[in-house]
Amino acid sequence: MKHAQTEALELSIAAGESVSVLDGSAKDLISLVVPFYNESAVVEAFFREVPAVLRGIADADYEIVCVNDGSTDSTLELLLAARAVDPRVKIVDLSRNFGKEAAMTAGLDEAAGHAVIPFDADLQDPPEAIPLLIAKWREGFDVVLAKRAERNTDSFMKRMTARLFYRVHNVISEVRIPENAGDFRLMSRQAVDALKQLPENRRFMKGLFAWVGFRTAQIEYVRRPRAGGKTKFSAWKLWNFALEGLTSFGTLPLRVWTYIGGATAAFAICYAAYLFLRTIVRGVDVPGYASIITAVLFLGGIQLIGIGVIGEYLGRIYIESKRRPIYIVRKIYAQSAT
Ligand code: UDP
Ligand code: MG
Repeated sequence: MKHAQTEALELSIAAGESVSVLDGSAKDLISLVVPFYNESAVVEAFFREVPAVLRGIADADYEIVCVNDGSTDSTLELLLAARAVDPRVKIVDLSRNFGKEAAMTAGLDEAAGHAVIPFDADLQDPPEAIPLLIAKWREGFDVVLAKRAERNTDSFMKRMTARLFYRVHNVISEVRIPENAGDFRLMSRQAVDALKQLPENRRFMKGLFAWVGFRTAQIEYVRRPRAGGKTKFSAWKLWNFALEGLTSFGTLPLRVWTYIGGATAAFAICYAAYLFLRTIVRGVDVPGYASIITAVLFLGGIQLIGIGVIGEYLGRIYIESKRRPIYIVRKIYAQSAT
């Protein structure tokens, strides 16, 4: 089965073309950065479609930096087979699964192109949009965002939660991330170099991309359904990803407790004054268990939420303070080291 796939792959890639990656020629070098995590179901379709599109771009050479993010299936073998026929396929093999953000960082670090395009292995980002990105880049933009014209391929829940996430994120963070723009985009060499200077090891790429700025243009595209296999992001993973995004780029969730606390205290003082006056006027009446227990529970809940938010940040500071590398490479299969 694996063999059949490999063979089809070899057939699907036009072999024998001259390789001029990084030879200093005047041509533009376009780098596609593609994270692969257990994507054996789509590798073949990927190499059938994508190199053909890249070859069709005028005055440009290309490289495809494939990052194997600790796949446990035959993804690496299939990638190696693809590389055997097209040396413009580079492979960065990570030592384990580090997650898409880290895998993409590994790919960006390895990419040598004048323009770099992060791209999903499952062909949800349509290859035919790549020439549009490059055309905009050649007009002089440093970053070309690809925006989803619609999200029909996503479930209703995913669309709603995504919208909520962007709204909340953009309210509490200093950096706005554009709604409905995924990681699919083009960045100039300058923008990529700027991105590489950001030192954090918990990397929320959408935020980092937005943070570096630069002259930005947009194109629209329609996201396809997955070419095969299943999504690698469960609801729980997405929730944690959203928390990562919210805590990476804003401190409002931490600071807001000062104001909530202040407002509660002010209210408590007013209420105390009212109770004091009432006691003077009307004397003591003991009942009040319900209102007391309500206030205690409510405030207890608010305090726990506040502590939880601090915990979210503290956990991130703790991880960040260890200064561990973002990813570990097992082996790089690139030009010279065949
Ligand atoms: N991916 C990865 N490491 C992970 C999870 C995902 O490299 O831990 C890659 C995956 O192989 C794919 C891309 O990230 O190329 C997007 O993943 P997926 O299509 O599952 O996400 P979705 O499109 O459903 O958001
Ligand atoms: Mg996908």
